[in-house]
Amino acid sequence: MSELNVVERSARVTDFFELDPDRGVLRNRFDKGRVFILSANAFRIIQEGLYEAYSTGGPAILHQMGRSYGRALARNKIAGETEVKFVTDLQMLGSAAGWGRIELTGSITSDKDSKLVFRNCVFCAASPSSNKPECYFLVGMVQGVSDEVFPNRFKAFEENCMRKGDKNCEIILHRTA
Ligand SMILES: [Zn+2]
Repeated sequence: MSELNVVERSARVTDFFELDPDRGVLRNRFDKGRVFILSANAFRIIQEGLYEAYSTGGPAILHQMGRSYGRALARNKIAGETEVKFVTDLQMLGSAAGWGRIELTGSITSDKDSKLVFRNCVFCAASPSSNKPECYFLVGMVQGVSDEVFPNRFKAFEENCMRKGDKNCEIILHRTA
């Protein structure tokens, strides 16, 4: 795998978000859109509700939610445009929004397979252990951003997941065309 020269970046909450506590309004600094905080526990409850209501459709719904969100991030120039920006934007977003720490191994554009490592994945933080990778929302988000950013087609899938006892969640970006 060739290594892409990405400078690791971190961001503080205030680099991305601004709070007006008197009005109870939190906005992102990009387009001043409203945002809100969702706890890892709330995400677990939503996830379990989807699994209960839709059985095997639950993962597909979470994946599609993530994919739409990832596409919107790229279209709004919050994540993407180039490979380096794709990685550094996800790192910034991960650190500022509390998703976890994101790193890239390999090069998305020149390797057949590259890997995004998510340390301290928030989507796993409050969720019960499992015998398989379960970060469907996160995989969908990576898929959605890559759909928009790269001329090549990629399939994102999760190889390692904290929910099945792995140290980190690791998402492979496999180039298909
Ligand atoms: Zn995971």
